[in-house]
Amino acid sequence: MIIPLNIVEAFAKNVGFDVCGVTPAGELTDRIKPFNGWINDGMHGEMGYMERNGDKRLDPTLLVPNAKSVVSVLLNYFPGNLPISTKPPKISRYALSVDYHTVIKNMLWQLLDSLRKEFGTINGRAFVDSAPVLERAWAQKSGLGWIGKNSMLINPKIGSYTFLGELIVDVDIETSVNQIPNRCGSCTRCIDACPTGAIVSAGVIDARKCISYLTIEKKSQLTPEEQESLNGWCFGCDICQEVCPWNSKIKVQTLRTILPKKIVLEISDEELPSISEDKFVKVFTDTPVSRANYAKFIETCQSIGV
Ligand code: SF4
Ligand code: SF4
Repeated sequence: MIIPLNIVEAFAKNVGFDVCGVTPAGELTDRIKPFNGWINDGMHGEMGYMERNGDKRLDPTLLVPNAKSVVSVLLNYFPGNLPISTKPPKISRYALSVDYHTVIKNMLWQLLDSLRKEFGTINGRAFVDSAPVLERAWAQKSGLGWIGKNSMLINPKIGSYTFLGELIVDVDIETSVNQIPNRCGSCTRCIDACPTGAIVSAGVIDARKCISYLTIEKKSQLTPEEQESLNGWCFGCDICQEVCPWNSKIKVQTLRTILPKKIVLEISDEELPSISEDKFVKVFTDTPVSRANYAKFIETCQSIGV
């Protein structure tokens, strides 16, 4: 049996996803060389976990026995241009709501449940930025968009402020036939706007220079030069998405489960650099910011000099 694509797309819409596509599960052969080159050049910085499970990252059949299909989904999370993401100390837009890992994973399980009710036993796993899966590569192969020069997956209708997720399942599903060609053209706005020069070539980010990495992932102390490079961001960085023309006309998301939390929006830019640990926990609990070390967060806010 081959499950029709239009049924999977309809179920994904019912669950709340904006876009869904399917590609056969198999090795991402064209990604092996660039990915290994990126690691060998040390561009992953202190993210040692990127070096592990390289084989699983590139071959989903090693993650799900007998994997046949990869279902990729996108959900727009654009919350608009809110003061907390536009006035230092700035927090990246994706981090203002309840942690997307939980929300998207629940939605993926609902999608798998719908498929099981309709088609019987299906074994599979849901992934949201949580296992060694090259999400953008799968989404691109599933026809959901292209990987822009800023390395983000860009969908022509909903832009790049999107959460990605995948179901890897052991059943055949009709494949999305049309991939979307890269539409960056001669544009270089993201490269020109990146304040640290982290976009070293089209689609390649040197994480060691990227403000998102410096404010979230880097565990060791920031150097004075790194502190000076933060451009007002204390958690994440949206600059290369803010300038992208494909994000200029996108809709503000209204899905209740991923709206920015009111308590987060109420924090003032004056209060943030001196927020107490108790309040930090209260305000950011269950948001991506809660994964930051409190001491590092405060130090980063203070180094921005607000
Ligand atoms: S997130 Fe910020 S620092 Fe990183 S590549 Fe984009 S603009 Fe540059
Ligand atoms: S800013 Fe321009 S070059 Fe960069 S991702 Fe968007 S369209 Fe592509």
